[in-house]
Amino acid sequence: MSALAVGAGPLYDIFYNRRRITGRLVVLTPLRIGSGGEAPDPTAIDNPVIRDSFGRPFIPGSSFKGVWRAFAEQVLDQLDNGDRGCCDPLADPCLSGEPIKELKRKYRDNRRALAEAIYKGLCPACRIFGSPHFAGRLRVRDLLLVEASWPGFCEVRPGVAINRDTRTAYSSRKYEVEAVPAGTAFHFEAVVENAAEKEWRDILLTLLPFTRGELPLGGGTGRGLGRVCLKEVTVATVTRANLGDFLSRGWEGIPAKDLEEACRESGIPAGGESGV
Ligand SMILES: [Zn+2]
Repeated sequence: MSALAVGAGPLYDIFYNRRRITGRLVVLTPLRIGSGGEAPDPTAIDNPVIRDSFGRPFIPGSSFKGVWRAFAEQVLDQLDNGDRGCCDPLADPCLSGEPIKELKRKYRDNRRALAEAIYKGLCPACRIFGSPHFAGRLRVRDLLLVEASWPGFCEVRPGVAINRDTRTAYSSRKYEVEAVPAGTAFHFEAVVENAAEKEWRDILLTLLPFTRGELPLGGGTGRGLGRVCLKEVTVATVTRANLGDFLSRGWEGIPAKDLEEACRESGIPAGGESGV
C-alpha cells in the first residue's frame, strides 16, 4: 500500500491532497428549491424559489450534498460487501451517545489517537460527508446561476395543498409555487480534502449518477420535477508534487482532467458522460 493510502486516513494536520470537481448542472425539468424549506406552506399563496442577494435563483450546496449523501448511504455499504452499513445520520448517527463519550474518556490525553479512533468508528458515508464528530472530506459550494442560461424569470406552477392527516388534496385550496425553468444551468464546484484512495473512488462512483440525470433535486420529484444533469465535469488534483504550483497560482496552476480520465485513474471503467 502506498504511503498516500495509509497517510490519507483520518486527519487534516498534514497536507496529502486536495481535489476540485467542477461542472455545470443543467435543469432538465422545472426545479423547485424553496426558500422556506422543503415543504411549502399550504396556506401561503407565494412559494418563491431560493434566491441569492441579487435576486437570482441558486441551489444551496447543502441541498446538492444532501441528495448525494442519501444516495451514497444506500450504495456504499453494498459496494463494501456489507463490510459495515452506513448509519442513518438523523436517527442514529455513527458514534452517537455512549460510544463517543467512551472514546473521549479513553483518549483524553491524546487528541491524535482520539481522532484516529473516531475515524475508525465511522461508516463510509460519515467519513466522506462528515458527522458531528468529524469534518468530512467533501464540501459542495452553493451552485450559482450561469447567467446566460436563465430567461430572467421563474415559472409559476400550480401546487396542491395536501391534508396532513388524510394525505389527500384539499379541493378548495390551491396555491402557486415558483420553479426554475428547464434549460437553466448552475455552476457546480466541490472540494475534496485529504481523501484516501478508496474514499475518492467512492466520491466519483456516487457522483456518476448525477452525470446521467438519475438523481433529482428539490421538491416535487415524485411528480417529475427537479431532474438535473451534471455536465462538463473536470477534476483538478493537488498533491505534494504540485503543491508549489497551487500555492503560487491557485487552481489556475493545476491542469484539470475530464471525468472519464479521473475515473479511469481510480480504476472505474466507464466514467463517460451520457448524452442527457
Ligand atoms: Zn455514519
